[in-house]
Amino acid sequence: QKEREQLQYLCSTNERAPKADWAGKFDWDHYLNKALAEQYGLTARFRPMQREVINATLQGRDVLCLMPSGGGKSLCYQMPALIREGLTLVISPLLSLIQDQVDRLQGQGVAAVAVTSLTPKEEVNQLYKQIETDKHLKLLYATPERIVSAKRFMGKLEKLHKSGRLARIAIDEAHCCSQWGNDFRPDYRKLAVLKQQFPTVPLIALTATATEDVCQDLKDILQIEGCERFKSSVNRPNLFYQVRPKPASNSDLSAAIASCIAEEDGASGIVYCLTRKETEQVAVDLQAAGISCGTYHADMDPASRMDIHKSWTAGQLQVIVATVAFGMGIDKPDVRFVIHHSMSKSIENYYQESGRAGRDGQLARCILFYRFADALRQASIVSLEPGWQPRLMKMACYAAAVSTCRHSFISRHFAEAPAACSSHCDCCCRPAGSVITKDVSTAAQDLTATLDSFPSSDRRATLNQLVDRWRSGKGVGISGKSMSKDECEQVVGSLFYDGLLSLEMGYTAYATNSYLKLSPKGSRLLQGNRLQVRQDIVASEHHSPRKSVKRRKKEAGDC
Ligand code: ADP
Ligand code: MG
Ligand code: ZN
Repeated sequence: QKEREQLQYLCSTNERAPKADWAGKFDWDHYLNKALAEQYGLTARFRPMQREVINATLQGRDVLCLMPSGGGKSLCYQMPALIREGLTLVISPLLSLIQDQVDRLQGQGVAAVAVTSLTPKEEVNQLYKQIETDKHLKLLYATPERIVSAKRFMGKLEKLHKSGRLARIAIDEAHCCSQWGNDFRPDYRKLAVLKQQFPTVPLIALTATATEDVCQDLKDILQIEGCERFKSSVNRPNLFYQVRPKPASNSDLSAAIASCIAEEDGASGIVYCLTRKETEQVAVDLQAAGISCGTYHADMDPASRMDIHKSWTAGQLQVIVATVAFGMGIDKPDVRFVIHHSMSKSIENYYQESGRAGRDGQLARCILFYRFADALRQASIVSLEPGWQPRLMKMACYAAAVSTCRHSFISRHFAEAPAACSSHCDCCCRPAGSVITKDVSTAAQDLTATLDSFPSSDRRATLNQLVDRWRSGKGVGISGKSMSKDECEQVVGSLFYDGLLSLEMGYTAYATNSYLKLSPKGSRLLQGNRLQVRQDIVASEHHSPRKSVKRRKKEAGDC
């Protein structure tokens, strides 16, 4: 048995050795348990899937490890590095991520170093020498650029490999390989060179991505077709998901966000906005409300971004008001809330952005402010990305739902069985009878007919044009006059969620406008006079997540 294992360990990782029980017993169990206890204390346990991943990579397999953010991916390559001879090369996309990890490891007494664009030339020379001579060096972090453009670095790795000391290659945030992901980095595509140069060195790719197309793509690019794949559930049971109706006025919205934050007793959090301008405006409003916060967006220079990030990580700033440019590098375990000022462009994106909360496993809140108009705003930003419309539509459906468990919605989206929520979402916490279903067919019929009557050759209108025309009495029907702008917007939203309207972009030299248009299905139903639309409305006031959790405990059984 032992011989066979050794043989497997030595054999090329692309050949498929017999499948092992990755949760079973292995020769190195003892060392692994010891290493875990040394790093995390005697009572520490492996998190779901960590042991399996570690066993497979120690067995010499190529591994694809899919674990949600906070799942503990780093440990999956750090532990093997600690208990084995040789050096583990870790590719990571961001300098800040690398610095954090190396600082932490060195703090724990682990021999880890990094070679990045920030490393002074002198030090690079020294490090290169150390890589060659220091047999105790365990982890070497580098950015993909190093592999792709520094010939000397590759040369060192080849030498290391020839001497049998390149133990493993870990590619962190491996979704950066894929164009379908959100963080595509061209240099990641060129990492194919690693498998070509070092075909016998086990490669482990790690990511929180849960989409199939991205996984396939990164397997192709990294050339690990025959890898063992481990996927732990996307569900994040400690996150409390909530959607709140978004006020139309900016000041009301800022006040609502400030009151969410006030409930957090000074804990750290993130507010995500759509644009740079919004981050600045919201930050001013929050500061006026006495909240310590700073902004983060792509137009800031790297130094000030780093400063803000640092003081937030250190707890000197409570809140970062950011665009999604504030992303991958966030390694802070105790983020207690992520508030979305506007919807994300897809469920994947929302899952990742909101998932920066609660990496420590403690309760954290993910609050999304939503109104239908935001779907159109988001559309004008993402409309050049392939496949944007169905993704956006699904996100809008998540946001508009008032009675579907949000954990289940997300897990089903990622093709998993519905997650057990244990009242960690607003929908599950609503008292019975608080959701009323309203028949809005008449209004929907008139609104679609009004849209169809628009004079432009392609019969389309912006949301404002449509609602204004209908409410001014110039459209079809009379019901528009008696409805508020907000109510009209919601009916138009329902038409969109039901697939009766679609979005169409209009490009001018200055802007991209989102237009509403009847979909083929909408046209058919309108012509046949068979248009029926129902709307679920929350009758009672919205609860804050904290109140909801308390309330839930008090009134057990009302979910
Ligand atoms: P990921 O990269 O999957 O998002 P990390 O590797 O950064 O997650 O881990 C998140 C946090 O969980 C870190 O603070 C890490 O130290 C901690 N952690 C990971 N695994 C364990 C474990 N088995 N026991 C205790 N803490 C762990
Ligand atoms: Mg990570
Ligand atoms: Zn739920």
